Amino acid sequence: MKPDPATAVSIVEVAPRDGLQNEHQIIPTDIKIAWINALSRTGLRRIEVTSFVRSDRIPQLADAEAVLARIDRVPGVAYGALVPNRQGLERALVHRPDAIALFTAVSETFNQRNIGASIEESFARFIPVVAEARAAGLPVRGYLSTVIGCPYEGVIDPGKAAAVAERFMLLGVDEVSLGDTIGVGTPEQVRRLLDQVVQRVPVPRIAVHFHDTYGQALANVLTALERGIRVIDSSVNGLGGCPFAPGASGNVATEEVVYLLEGLGCPTGVDLPALLRAGELVGQILGRPPVSRLARVPRESPWLEPGKTWNRES
Ligand code: MG
Repeated sequence: MKPDPATAVSIVEVAPRDGLQNEHQIIPTDIKIAWINALSRTGLRRIEVTSFVRSDRIPQLADAEAVLARIDRVPGVAYGALVPNRQGLERALVHRPDAIALFTAVSETFNQRNIGASIEESFARFIPVVAEARAAGLPVRGYLSTVIGCPYEGVIDPGKAAAVAERFMLLGVDEVSLGDTIGVGTPEQVRRLLDQVVQRVPVPRIAVHFHDTYGQALANVLTALERGIRVIDSSVNGLGGCPFAPGASGNVATEEVVYLLEGLGCPTGVDLPALLRAGELVGQILGRPPVSRLARVPRESPWLEPGKTWNRES
């Protein structure tokens, strides 16, 4: 892939929301805030910091208000929040997020089991949320889960995924993030999915969200980049897990996406050693090593020095 500087790649850091929501050990609010503040100073430009779901559903994110209210707002960094519905949006708006995200699934069964609503009902709920977010001047992203595989329905038809992605566009969202929620997809499936989605959604408005459950995440990121996708979701340390595969790897790791992009000659603006230090902060609290392989590389490795080796001509 030869990158076009006019279409720089954006990384959307999702660890504080998507990463932590799968962690049962509750992280104290002050530590989350310190961690997000550290992530904010790594060069990342977009960070999803929390979710305004009901706290009985995800106790880990019960401190959404405090987190959004108290993090440092580093200029140039957009701090996003996930909201499930209008009530969630209203809670979020009090604390001025920079962006809002909504979520639904391609799989009807997954949506019913996950949020107790049909896809139709989800989109009906989203109409006032998008209107209100727009009125507040906020960009809106739509997360679409189970775009390749579903724990209940198996393989998902890429045409069906594209149709639901298009519904998000018709709803008026700025970006749709295609999530392989259970991390079963392979590059060939990603190609087939994108073949369909690009017919219905403009490429600059497509993001990809891969999980590494079956070890395919970074290959899938590269596949998406080769198809022109320029927004990549990732999670520092590979935090995230998969609720349907206990013990499995999580989201694609931000540090590995950064290393890949820099090696392709796509500058990310991310300070990799600073990102690894930020990852260590939460790793220590969780008391286990990071999932990502890059995060386990000895810190004295010269290959981690910014700009020195990643893209060196041999
Ligand atoms: Mg995820």
